[in-house]
Amino acid sequence: MKTLDFTFQFLGNNTAVDFANSQVLVRSPFFVSMEATNEVLTWIEQAGLTVDVADLDANLHKVTEFRNGLKAIFAACIDEQEPKPKHIALLNRYLPAYSQRKEVKFNQGQFVLDEVQHPFSVDEFLGFLAHEAATLLASPQVLKLKRCSNEKCILIYVDKSKSGRRRWCSMEICGNRAKAANHYHNSKQAKAG
Ligand SMILES: [Zn+2]
Repeated sequence: MKTLDFTFQFLGNNTAVDFANSQVLVRSPFFVSMEATNEVLTWIEQAGLTVDVADLDANLHKVTEFRNGLKAIFAACIDEQEPKPKHIALLNRYLPAYSQRKEVKFNQGQFVLDEVQHPFSVDEFLGFLAHEAATLLASPQVLKLKRCSNEKCILIYVDKSKSGRRRWCSMEICGNRAKAANHYHNSKQAKAG
């Protein structure tokens, strides 16, 4: 299957957050809807994961439903709202699939708990994301979940900066643009004054 000639942003500091950020505007009015198999496959490959492509193609609706739920939970956290029970249930539906990816091996005199090596099924992929999300949501890091300060930007991230004052999804995307706008605004004011 042909993947997209497009580079996704991985700036969320958490794979589930990055997945919630995966529906993006490429150039108005073009955007990656993540509702086509090759779009989701491109994201998965760029995230360094592998998936059973036939299973992905057959179960794309599960991926869409999960991403919408994930976005709603993260938005509720950021806006200090109660998350909807149906969205929490969605995480719990796939969590068990993640533990199926673990296996015990006996290697060179000791036991190791290892990840199975075959590509993710869709349920396992969503289980992995559910695990990433649940681990974040149940940790103090959840308070560091933020939305980019650019009102027109929908990207979210876990602020892991030392100062805890990260304002932008990325300096390149929104930070510099805001700086330039501010500079323009200030110089206009200076001229008017
Ligand atoms: Zn932004």
